[in-house]
Amino acid sequence: MLDSLSRACSECSIHGGCCFEARPPLSQKRIDILLGNGVVPEEIEFAGYSRLKLKPDGFCVMFEDGKCRIHGIKPETCVAGPFTFDVKRKILQIYLKRESICPMVAILKQNRGLFDQLFDLATEKIVDLVRALPAAELEEICKIDEPETDLVAEILLKDV
Ligand code: SF4
Repeated sequence: MLDSLSRACSECSIHGGCCFEARPPLSQKRIDILLGNGVVPEEIEFAGYSRLKLKPDGFCVMFEDGKCRIHGIKPETCVAGPFTFDVKRKILQIYLKRESICPMVAILKQNRGLFDQLFDLATEKIVDLVRALPAAELEEICKIDEPETDLVAEILLKDV
């Protein structure tokens, strides 16, 4: 079943896929991991929060030859996709992209076990990111509109 998820990603051409116009946010911890693994500072920018840059073709700077150059250490929001998030006061809201923008979602909706597995992983990564980000940067990130998503869970964050 994980194969069908990977295939859905590799065959996806909707809006150029998740890595098109993607500027995943980076905590300092993630930046240190990336810089320690061949990413150069020029590939990272600050725009209210730290994030990966885009290439002139509109794809994430880590997108090369049709795949992610840093797959094993990619940012938390990349691991979490097609789940995404918002934080309102101390409530972490987890959203799921609609099938219209992510073919993986149809597969997840047909397999509850797989859905739960990915939801747990996504939530863990998002909580890690939210805890690691400075409050001002998190606030900037939460201003970004995420159209065509549906709320699937709300979690109280006690220590954020
Ligand atoms: S870091 Fe990798 S998975 Fe994330 S947007 Fe960039 S190329 Fe895509």
